[in-house]
Amino acid sequence: MQHTAHTHCLRCRRPLHSARSQSLGYGPTCARRIRNAARTADLTAYDTRQLDSARELIEDAAIIPLRNAVFTVVSTDGTETYLAHPAACTCPAGLKAHPGRRPCYHTAAARMLLAA
Ligand SMILES: [Zn+2]
Ligand SMILES: [Zn+2]
Repeated sequence: MQHTAHTHCLRCRRPLHSARSQSLGYGPTCARRIRNAARTADLTAYDTRQLDSARELIEDAAIIPLRNAVFTVVSTDGTETYLAHPAACTCPAGLKAHPGRRPCYHTAAARMLLAA
């Protein structure tokens, strides 16, 4: 996956200085908050593999806050973007989701970011 350099934190909009922060898209404080939130958010609806994918999505800065609780996510191959929300997502798996079916991992990543 290609890495874009981010000049400002995706969460608090402060300027990012280190190369690591710029590739992650978050400053050290926000990155720590997100890691903690990934442990405390309500993620019981997801399996371990989905949570790993959600964390990877965040680490790749492939999920970007758009407005309120809505995020833009980039598909794994980088060719498409979807809109993800803690309860819904416009990706193919998200559109097929219904009660009783496991939601897609993009919604897990949205939950982690919102809990941070
Ligand atoms: Zn920040
Ligand atoms: Zn999705």
